[in-house]
Amino acid sequence: MQGGIEDEEDESRADVSGEIRLPATLEGTAGPLPETVEIAIVGGGVIGLSIAYHLAKLGLTDVVVIERGYLAEGASGRNGGGVRQQWSTEINIRLMQESVELCRRFAVDLGVNVWFRQGGYLFLARNAKEVARLEKNIALQNRCGVATRMLEPKAALDIVPELNLTGIVGASYNPSDGILFPWPFLWGYARQAAAYGVRIFTQTPVGGLEPMAGGGYVVHTPRGAVRARRVINATGAWSPKLAELIGVQVPTWPIRHEICSSEPLKPFLRPMVSELASGLYCSQSMRGEIVGGVSLPGHGSTYGMGSTLEFLATYARRLVRLMPVLGDIKILRQWAGPYDQSPDGNPILGPAPGHPDFFLACGFVGHGFMMAPIIGKLYAEWLTGGAPHEIFGRSGLARFADGSGAQHAKEDFNIG
Ligand SMILES: Cc1cc2nc3c(=O)[nH]c(=O)nc-3n(C[C@H](O)[C@H](O)[C@H](O)COP(=O)(O)OP(=O)(O)OC[C@H]3O[C@@H](n4cnc5c(N)ncnc54)[C@H](O)[C@@H]3O)c2cc1C
Repeated sequence: MQGGIEDEEDESRADVSGEIRLPATLEGTAGPLPETVEIAIVGGGVIGLSIAYHLAKLGLTDVVVIERGYLAEGASGRNGGGVRQQWSTEINIRLMQESVELCRRFAVDLGVNVWFRQGGYLFLARNAKEVARLEKNIALQNRCGVATRMLEPKAALDIVPELNLTGIVGASYNPSDGILFPWPFLWGYARQAAAYGVRIFTQTPVGGLEPMAGGGYVVHTPRGAVRARRVINATGAWSPKLAELIGVQVPTWPIRHEICSSEPLKPFLRPMVSELASGLYCSQSMRGEIVGGVSLPGHGSTYGMGSTLEFLATYARRLVRLMPVLGDIKILRQWAGPYDQSPDGNPILGPAPGHPDFFLACGFVGHGFMMAPIIGKLYAEWLTGGAPHEIFGRSGLARFADGSGAQHAKEDFNIG
């Protein structure tokens, strides 16, 4: 899959330059870019905005966020909003414990209701190998203080009575995992970052990065150029393209991930339910919709964000097998977004080797939303003079070239 990136861009990307009208900061800062800035963050998704907010909160406000389209245009505006602590490596479990805490405080700290609801995550196994995998993960999660427990199939009915247990041989459940509504999360970060003084430019694609003598880059856009001491590449699935502008190879590739949403139903489903074998996942939003997806292998590497009947048929089959009660629901919306797939399933963070002023914040696969709160906070602490958290030592781009990736255990629980 690597190296075989179709250069096809998203056919559904509308040209809305100059036409959209969004509230206050979401519309972006008007006028030309400033002449100089300490940090230019390219990409107005959840990662870029979380870093911007945390930098500003720590006092570093000489920051611009430059987004080629609108906020939430990329994966951050298209995801399922799942937030879990059920992971297979200690570092990811511990990071996600902190992220969940930040999600819990989000409404109070940032003044926006993100509809965060901790109804748990229920993973379902259909064979002994999957049960063993869950048990191994649970032992590690419990050692870290996450209260995940293994359930006999019948006990899963106490949590979701509508499940069809045929073929289910075990389940894992952690009650403090949850779901949130992604868009207000972005609005909260954007609004508060802007209130601190960060300037956010939407409809502003970065088309060139010119290294300056003495460090930093001239960042070129159709709106003008800004001289930035440091640049952060937070362009998600497009990160290889931005990095290429200065000759840096980022080994991630885009994978289209489809998802859909139903008509609203009376509330009945508290947890996110996910089936390991098929990659099926679904949850019920606070508005009552069933939001979910399923793995569709073999779609290759693409920036295309079209929707397929194949997805809908596969999802419907798997969903109705698991919860026959949903057999008659109507699907109202179907869409897709890009996973920024990294070779070991973990993000790529820190400066690119040989480019000390060009920082990477990409490769978050299907879990960047839940990681954004803690990664943004830790990144900001580091960039404002704090000691780097150990995640940065493990997540450098060099790990793929020099074998130090062995330090970063492959995360094999990239599901739901
Ligand atoms: C269908 C789906 C379901 C998902 N479900 C979950 C989930 O349940 N939980 C979870 O944690 N994660 C989930 N994810 C993953 C999550 O959405 C992503 O990991 C996360 O949003 C990545 O954020 P980002 O800021 O790195 O990228 P993005 O949100 O893609 O932001 C990158 C931004 O960079 C901009 N950009 C690109 N090139 C340029 C340029 N040259 N100049 C300026 N701007 C540029 C893009 O327009 C885009 O807005 C899901 C993803 C998808 C697609």
